[in-house]
Amino acid sequence: MSDTTIKPQTFEQDPFAAAFPETREFWAAAENGQLLLNTCDDCKRPHWYPRALCPLCGSTRLRWLPASGRGTLYAFSTARKATPAYTLAYVKLDEGPTLMTNIVDATPESLKIGMPVAVQFQRAQEGRMMPFFRPASAG
Ligand SMILES: [Zn+2]
Repeated sequence: MSDTTIKPQTFEQDPFAAAFPETREFWAAAENGQLLLNTCDDCKRPHWYPRALCPLCGSTRLRWLPASGRGTLYAFSTARKATPAYTLAYVKLDEGPTLMTNIVDATPESLKIGMPVAVQFQRAQEGRMMPFFRPASAG
């Protein structure tokens, strides 16, 4: 990793990003709307969430690879009494890992388990661009 990595102030000032330097490249790519997955050079498998050790084999030989940003809705729950209401979900990425996220740009009634979704980054209050998902047209 070099110092030429993009360093937007927005996430550099974020205590979370600062506390987990191994996630720096992830947040830098997120600023550009790119979803990265930590992929292990030893067992060749991608995993979520970003961390310093491969959770599948313990290797430290990890590299960032661009993900498709596409997946399927695995489970979801809408907090209807929240203002505004939001939908928390598990999305299974096409690459394999499952991540916890929010569904955006959709009414709860329109959501179905197994439907295709696509990543849509939105800036969280803390400054980070967070990978949320929206319904995607099939195919
Ligand atoms: Zn591994």
